[in-house]
Amino acid sequence: MATVQFAEVKKSFGAFPVIKGVNIDIQDGEFVILVGPSGCGKSTLLRMLAGLENISGGEIRIGGRQVNNLPPKDRDIAMVFQNYALYPHMTVAKNMAFSLMLNSTSQVEIDKRVNNAASILGLTHLLDRYPRQLSGGQRQRVAMGRAIVRDPQVFLFDEPLSNLDAKLRVAMRAEIKELHHRLKTTTVYVTHDQIEAMTMADKIVVMHDGRVEQIGSPLELYDNPSNLFVAGFIGSPAMNMIKGQLDPQNPQVFVAADGTRLPLPAAYPSAVGKNLVYGLRPEYIRLDGTGYRAEVVVIEPTGYETQIVVNFGGSEVTCVFRERVDVRPGEAITIAIDPANVHLFDAEGGQKIS
Ligand code: ATP
Repeated sequence: MATVQFAEVKKSFGAFPVIKGVNIDIQDGEFVILVGPSGCGKSTLLRMLAGLENISGGEIRIGGRQVNNLPPKDRDIAMVFQNYALYPHMTVAKNMAFSLMLNSTSQVEIDKRVNNAASILGLTHLLDRYPRQLSGGQRQRVAMGRAIVRDPQVFLFDEPLSNLDAKLRVAMRAEIKELHHRLKTTTVYVTHDQIEAMTMADKIVVMHDGRVEQIGSPLELYDNPSNLFVAGFIGSPAMNMIKGQLDPQNPQVFVAADGTRLPLPAAYPSAVGKNLVYGLRPEYIRLDGTGYRAEVVVIEPTGYETQIVVNFGGSEVTCVFRERVDVRPGEAITIAIDPANVHLFDAEGGQKIS
């Protein structure tokens, strides 16, 4: 069983702590994405799992076995790097075969595995080429092929798509997902791109400043972010955050900084008097002739939807409408909010109020 566990894992570089006690449980066959802003520690965590970085505290287990002090080659993992790390003087076939040649696999077996991986990845016609004769996407596939031939217990990916242009990135996302569906190998994948995480992962681990903020399926995180950080990080365009407080006379009404009264899904008497944030996703704002008036700041039609930024509740608020809206900056639209989809957060600690 290729489960992976991080238990109270810590890491410091000198006196500087970068991983501050991380716990993650990964099931056999799961596709898990570590996501977070630059510097949050996700690559360090992946490198510790690979054995490329030692661990300052806690335990990492692969298939139930503690691997803290095991060298990378004994961990039965294969890693795909951001820069692909291909050998320039070797053909595609040699690049893919190389690790197997090192551990004295028979030539027959090597040929079988390389041909199989090449056919899965559509590389068969490129086996005799050198890396410099390949496109970025093809190099990416060779790097994956090199991991596949080893038939490891766990695949590790460190921002594998960040060197590709936007269109290719979308295509490769689908390919990697399809590959995982086919091989069902436990996968741990690092990215700073929340869309990549949302579209590919079975389970997302949101990291921030060396800690795990929340773990869940993409839609769990989208629908139920447990704090302001996750709420702001997951979703594009981002969740709107309007500052204000509850009406002490009616704690089911949020009063924004400019006095606008906004609906809530329930009453929150325990949050009266606190500084709060009213979290509203752009697509949960409707056009409604009887609603609030809001002044248009920016309008961005994409063809199939219309994004409009308005001045509302003392903030700039982004709305996404599934329709075409004919307005200009400076004009007003009228909008309504469905309170069922509103999130309320403590402005100081950031936790969700429920
Ligand atoms: P990015 O997306 O930018 O790669 P990341 O989330 O992967 O960011 P890490 O590369 O894991 O972040 O880095 C986490 C922190 O550890 C950063 O503050 C970084 O400067 C620091 N760090 C990483 N490697 C070292 C090192 N070898 N020595 C000292 N500090 C390091």
